[in-house]
Amino acid sequence: MSIETLEFQAETKKLLNLVINSIYTNKEIFLRELISNASDAIDKLHFESLTNKDILEGEDEFEIFVLPSKETKTLTISDNGIGMTRGEVIQNIGTIAQSGTKAFLEKIKESEGKIDEELIGQFGVGFYSAFIVADKVEIITRKAGETAAVKWTSDGAGEYTIEDCEKDSRGTMVVLHLKEEFIGGEDFDFTSSFTLENLVKKYSDYIRYPIKMNFDVKDKDGKETVEIRTVNSMQPLWTRNKSDIKDEEYDEFFKHQFHEWEKPLEIFHTKAEGTTEYTALLCIPKHAAINLYYADYEAGLQLYSRHVFIMEKCKDFLPDYLRFIKGLVDSPDLPLNISRELLQQSREVKKIGKALEKNILKQLSKILKNDREHYEEFWNEYGKSLKIGVYNNAYDQKVKDDLKDLLLFATSTQEKFSTLEEYVSRMPETQKKIYTASGKDKETISQMPQMEILRERGIEVLYLLDPIDEFAVEALSKYAEKDFQSVSREDFELDDEESKKTKTEVEELAKSHEDLLKDVKEVLNGAVAEVRLTSHLKSGAVCLATGAAGPSLNMEKTFAAMNNPFFKAQRILEINPNHALFTKLSGLHALGKDTDDFKNFCQLLYTQALLIEGIMPDNPVEVANKIAELMAK
Ligand code: ADP
Repeated sequence: MSIETLEFQAETKKLLNLVINSIYTNKEIFLRELISNASDAIDKLHFESLTNKDILEGEDEFEIFVLPSKETKTLTISDNGIGMTRGEVIQNIGTIAQSGTKAFLEKIKESEGKIDEELIGQFGVGFYSAFIVADKVEIITRKAGETAAVKWTSDGAGEYTIEDCEKDSRGTMVVLHLKEEFIGGEDFDFTSSFTLENLVKKYSDYIRYPIKMNFDVKDKDGKETVEIRTVNSMQPLWTRNKSDIKDEEYDEFFKHQFHEWEKPLEIFHTKAEGTTEYTALLCIPKHAAINLYYADYEAGLQLYSRHVFIMEKCKDFLPDYLRFIKGLVDSPDLPLNISRELLQQSREVKKIGKALEKNILKQLSKILKNDREHYEEFWNEYGKSLKIGVYNNAYDQKVKDDLKDLLLFATSTQEKFSTLEEYVSRMPETQKKIYTASGKDKETISQMPQMEILRERGIEVLYLLDPIDEFAVEALSKYAEKDFQSVSREDFELDDEESKKTKTEVEELAKSHEDLLKDVKEVLNGAVAEVRLTSHLKSGAVCLATGAAGPSLNMEKTFAAMNNPFFKAQRILEINPNHALFTKLSGLHALGKDTDDFKNFCQLLYTQALLIEGIMPDNPVEVANKIAELMAK
């Protein structure tokens, strides 16, 4: 096939443009990116060779070469890994698939084109980083097991060419035609073996395959010869002693290994011996992935057996609610020669997973106890995940018990988050239940008419601000033997003597107004399941409550947002008998339940209750007209 000229995908063009035109503070990162790609390519081949020895063509010494040349002004990084077919080159190099790169573009968009140098320096942009230092890049590659090789060439300006070529050995060579400023300069000289050796040691020391370089040496007769030396120590970081590993080494490792761009919030490095042997190196990334809660988020831990890479995303280690954890597990107990699917479900994987889950939760609770501020930082990013964990395990008491003390809530009386334990410890003896109120923010909840009486009685209320909160609290159903009680449910009542007394009085009153309540309900024509008098309102005239069980109004909204309009809350209109509007309502009723005045009054009362809950009435124009009429009277 002759030379073919193709265009980069639009997103790739954008990225290349940024890479080429921005001032990278950290010019050297291209090397770790390319070496990392080379190492990944060898991993892939190695894994493949476990079940298909022939693919190695007798060549099983894996290596990566870093070859600078002052004459040709190039730097070549080559590997004998899996290589790429023509189609794969077009697919992998011409388009952006990797989520880290997408996230990077997102961030840039967020900053409205202003590129934060630090940001760009921290981000790995993978292969494209080659264009930080090169004005032309060639990839010469041959897929293992195939004979055809291809050469890809680009100057990073929108187009690339691709043509057939010869290549004896399998794998990939990336040839960087270095920009003038990176040749022989004082700051950067990427043709200098000395500089390159140091960079390999700094960024890629733990790469599992030898990274080799040529060094000019004088033999004992003073003659110049070339010696090939392996530059990296090849010891995987996780196999080293915890106490010997510096924080920066961990941070570098996670950035490199998991395409992170900030140092992690927390690192867990555990070694277990005994019946199941494994080492796990896990982290909580500083920020939750943009797509963490979406279907396209790929959770899972990297899996190694005796330091040999097995798979990228093993999903069965951790439960779904810990999907934000990144990291790897290395265990000699895992069989290498079974399929990935079976491996994921193996008993060993489950056993290790259970131990990891327990350990992570233990560490989190330690942080919560010892470093509240740090825990809150974690909570702000991942609290939702733990609440989803409670909800998804509504029928698993053990999981709920493990998670319940890790939950934080805003409350009506505290500036800061509280745990359930802290809330309960502040409850006065007369308070039997944990009161909850849900709404979109603190402000909205504090204005709810039901909150007035709680404020007056000095009762603290747990704020459920995230839609998942209500679901999680319902799944818990109790904490420390105390029921959760929503202030918006029909069974909401206070336990003190005064409240009991007013409740009885209101019940008496309701009896004597049975007809009125029945007629209001009739006018509302099926919109509410019940109309009743309440003792919970102070200055408010009305509010909406929902049935003691079933979806709440907020749950209904959540379901609707998920395109599930069939879960409806049962609505109950509650009227304050001490309000002037109730007196007016009774008066109008006495003049006739079929009069327009009475009917309109009922409609408007109901509309008020809806508006308080942030719900639009079905017929806003009609309602507005009725209000106008009333105002003009
Ligand atoms: P990432 O490595 O983060 O996925 P890159 O832009 O660095 O993103 O690379 C894109 C893809 O190109 C890789 O996922 C891989 O499939 C392929 N690739 C890159 N370098 C090599 C290589 N040396 N050998 C084989 N495939 C490679």
